[in-house]
Amino acid sequence: MKALVLDIKPEEWERTKGMSFIEVPEPKLEESKNTADGSKVIVKPLYTGFCGSDKGVWFRHAFKDLIFDSLEQSENEFGRICGHELLGEIVEVGSYASKVYGYRVGDLVSTESHIFCGQCHQCKIGDAHVCSNHLIIGISTDGCFADYVKLPAKELWRTNLDEIRPEVAAIQEPLGNAVHACSRVDLRGRTLAVFGCGTIGLFTILMARAMGATTIIGVDPNEKNLKLAGELGADEVLRVPGESVHGVEHAPDLEVVEAIRRRCFGEGVDVAFEMSGSNQALNTAIASTRAGGDIILFGLSAGDYTVTNFQEIILYGKSMHSVVGRKVFQTWYTMRNLLTSKEHNLQDRIYDVILNKGDGTVMPFHQFNRDAFEQAIQEYPKIVLKYR
Ligand SMILES: [Zn+2]
Ligand SMILES: [Zn+2]
Repeated sequence: MKALVLDIKPEEWERTKGMSFIEVPEPKLEESKNTADGSKVIVKPLYTGFCGSDKGVWFRHAFKDLIFDSLEQSENEFGRICGHELLGEIVEVGSYASKVYGYRVGDLVSTESHIFCGQCHQCKIGDAHVCSNHLIIGISTDGCFADYVKLPAKELWRTNLDEIRPEVAAIQEPLGNAVHACSRVDLRGRTLAVFGCGTIGLFTILMARAMGATTIIGVDPNEKNLKLAGELGADEVLRVPGESVHGVEHAPDLEVVEAIRRRCFGEGVDVAFEMSGSNQALNTAIASTRAGGDIILFGLSAGDYTVTNFQEIILYGKSMHSVVGRKVFQTWYTMRNLLTSKEHNLQDRIYDVILNKGDGTVMPFHQFNRDAFEQAIQEYPKIVLKYR
């Protein structure tokens, strides 16, 4: 079968980029050899989404150790098949997956991308999104940029194409990040600012509105991102220089803080979302939040951060919340309800604005062209691969 694979040696990481579209062996269910296969299914992808983390692999910014450490434990000779955002059709079902989960050939599914163990402390108390032993599909196990992918039945999410259009169904996993972020605190009647209007920041603007936010301010250095934020309903967009302000890389951008305060009755926002991973944005987000407000942390970069005026967080009673992955499966249920609600028209707005009505963003998997693809992932917030 064909697959999009990271097929380099660890020592080639620094001086290469991209993924290779190559022929690899098909995954098989072999219960007689491996009983664990009984709880798995083979899925044939119909549409998949290219994630920010896939982009991190493409440009060699992230996941090097996770990928190569996991490959050392695996039998793969060819490398790692990438991809974890999926809409697909089940073509083969293990006996346990069929008996216990009721899956049948022909069922349409998406998947949670963090494979949880079900045994650790967090899994047992319903916090499987922070499982101690989790694997990530397409990073630490083979993913869905392929004609077939083997997945554990317990991770799958049934998807009804009468309710959700396929291009949106394929990107439920990253949408779930935004739904999870918007679920950390009550957003009803709240004012909020979203720092970083890339893919997840844009999703957050949409979801936050649907979940009851009143005023939404988008902040980003990129004019194109801010235009999309406006089209998705941000009440105000603020452009930041992107580089350091006043020569101090992490100091808050006081102009932005002032503009946000002005917009929010002189007080600052109720809730700030830090979706960019920039140290400066983190400090601007904290400074822009009113006393007693909440800061939701999702963006990240490796290494140390400096928090300016740390005492302010405590003295003004600001709360910080980190968001990783999706609550399994609470977030998925909330997302299904939001996506299928007619009131907010979320699917059309995702397709029309974020996916640019499919123009340039939906690309045929089997005609994979490396250069065209690289250009597309840099131009649009989300790229979807179509398999037939
Ligand atoms: Zn993703
Ligand atoms: Zn676990």
